Amino acid sequence: MNRFDATALLSQRTAAVEEAAIIRMAQRARDLKEQGRDVISLTLGEPDFDTPAHIQAAAADAMRKGFTHYAPVAGIPALRTAIAKKLEEENGLIYTPAQIVLANGAKQAITNTVFATIDDGDEAILLAPFWAAYEGILRMAGGVPVVLRSGVSDGFKVPAARISEAITAKTKLLFINSPNNPSGAVYTRGDLEDIAAVVRRHPRMLVISDEIYEYITFGEKPASFASLPAMRERTITVNGFSKAFAMTGWRLGYAAAPGPVAMAMAKVQGTFTAGANAFVQHAAIAALQGGRADVNRMRDTYRQRRALVVEALRKIEGVNVQEPAGTFYAFPDVSQLLKRGSKLADVDRLCDWLLEEHGLALVPGTAFGDERCVRISFAASASDLTRGLQRLSAALR
Ligand code: PLP
Repeated sequence: MNRFDATALLSQRTAAVEEAAIIRMAQRARDLKEQGRDVISLTLGEPDFDTPAHIQAAAADAMRKGFTHYAPVAGIPALRTAIAKKLEEENGLIYTPAQIVLANGAKQAITNTVFATIDDGDEAILLAPFWAAYEGILRMAGGVPVVLRSGVSDGFKVPAARISEAITAKTKLLFINSPNNPSGAVYTRGDLEDIAAVVRRHPRMLVISDEIYEYITFGEKPASFASLPAMRERTITVNGFSKAFAMTGWRLGYAAAPGPVAMAMAKVQGTFTAGANAFVQHAAIAALQGGRADVNRMRDTYRQRRALVVEALRKIEGVNVQEPAGTFYAFPDVSQLLKRGSKLADVDRLCDWLLEEHGLALVPGTAFGDERCVRISFAASASDLTRGLQRLSAALR
């Protein structure tokens, strides 16, 4: 008898991509909560603040004015102009509005970039730990991830010399994400200059600089890779509104790129969806032009939470933590606590055990190409953080 099996019909492209562990852990935490279990979830990289009122008001106003129809594929001109101005004033980058393409989140801006540049078999260098979505997007586009590792001992940064060694005739892209999700590391201008010197030697190579956490830093302002000599024509600068302005659900991000890449990205955007939400784009103008008081207020709160988290982690024996210089994540190395053949044989099982038996949801480092660490998001209330870290400490003791 012929049995119909829909699974057998799935494309190899989707089969090659695993469900994101971040989303899986967050969902399991939600499911357990719904069953009445007391669960603290420190999984998602999502600001727990409301979107600032003036941005919400601008969206409502735009909706009332009738901006509820299709927007131009690459974005409304006024927003592209506002972004060009922001990039010039804050990042020292000169892009024309035509070089800026809006998308439904920075994630889609990265997808547009990858589909605009990667052919089957092209290699892309990922500096681990890296945001898991990069790998999934790359694989779906037929690209081959080349992963370079780093850990607490090297400050979660991969030196330029190692990048240089990994470049082959097939290397098309290098992903840089500073401040970094999940490690919180920030590449200094000097680190980036060293990397730029390597990139300059390889004319077939582009760089994606994901700067989505640019405002969430606790020390020096991070440098934009494209601002380094001769790097603007080689770099796709990605940014968005989710993290800085607490606008994760609004879905708006952008990329600024060399002209031909920007045109190709708009083609991808137009093929897969259409222009990003029209009234959200109007609200984004208000976000950019409304000053940075809200952004700074949220960052100061993250700074306090960072202190709380790092202090608590440093008190737990066997946990090795580096203070994150940016973002709202801590990425402690817990490898000393893992025991082969036990319930805590690896970080995946450790995270399962913490959730099932101690009511604490974290994300295993394997989701980011690192099997020694776990990610703790401090985009959560101080009370959840305090209680969550108490649970962690009690469990690991
Ligand atoms: N880039 C990094 C490094 C991220 O951590 C995230 C979200 O977690 C994104 C991009 C995606 O942001 P958006 O919500 O704009 O798609």
